[in-house]
Amino acid sequence: MSNKVILIILDGLNYQVARECMGCLMGYVELSRAQLHKLVCELPSLSRPLYETILTGTRPLDHGVLSNDMARRSHQNSIFSLARDREKTTAAAAYYMFSELYNHGPFQPLEDRFQNSPDQLIQHGLFYWLDHYPDSHLFADAEYLRTAYDPDFLLIHPMNVDDAGHHHGLLSSEYRKAARSVDVQMAEYLSGWLEAGYQIMVTSDHGMNGMCSHGGTLAEEREVPLFLLGKTFDHLRSMQLKQLHICGLVCEALGIEQHGKLLPISSAH
Ligand SMILES: [Zn+2]
Repeated sequence: MSNKVILIILDGLNYQVARECMGCLMGYVELSRAQLHKLVCELPSLSRPLYETILTGTRPLDHGVLSNDMARRSHQNSIFSLARDREKTTAAAAYYMFSELYNHGPFQPLEDRFQNSPDQLIQHGLFYWLDHYPDSHLFADAEYLRTAYDPDFLLIHPMNVDDAGHHHGLLSSEYRKAARSVDVQMAEYLSGWLEAGYQIMVTSDHGMNGMCSHGGTLAEEREVPLFLLGKTFDHLRSMQLKQLHICGLVCEALGIEQHGKLLPISSAH
């Protein structure tokens, strides 16, 4: 079976803050219309390494992107490459690092902000480079890509939660407010996307600590949410999922066979 998939990576969102502040998404969970899983992110708990982990189903030590400064193209099969090679349409409204990982680099804002090419791994891309680029604009960018190009796989990657965490820390009202805000903005689109038949995943690369950073092994830096919305995911309800499973689960939902990314999933009980 083949479905269209929207993967939303809310950068820097801690699991507990997601649970406590995201009333719209948790409303879906309360009515059993979404599942919420707690994931422990791979190490190091940094953005660029974990973008690659989420999109390829491989650990940072194995894919080799170990810092945010390591600006090189991915060497792995990714959701983007697997989908494109099976003639599915890919799109992303995301931070410039995704362009560097899957299309080309170094990122040149004036040339690389808008990208459209069937040969690229991200065929339709709309990229930003400032961490305070408003989440509201980013969701509008994503909705433009969805309606204009009808992608099979759409990545949406807002940054404002992580940005608030770096300025004010895990325990700040500003960090929580950013989580509440993106939850409400997302809710404006979710019901329409579900009605249109999309399978939707909402997760994060890493969490945040009380010292305005992440990268280490504290629980608050590593624990992130994975919300699953859509009938394709029903069989996962009682499963113990890992961040490494996301790539394979997206491929399965897209109907991509033999993608080599299907890791064993154990039961939570
Ligand atoms: Zn960060």
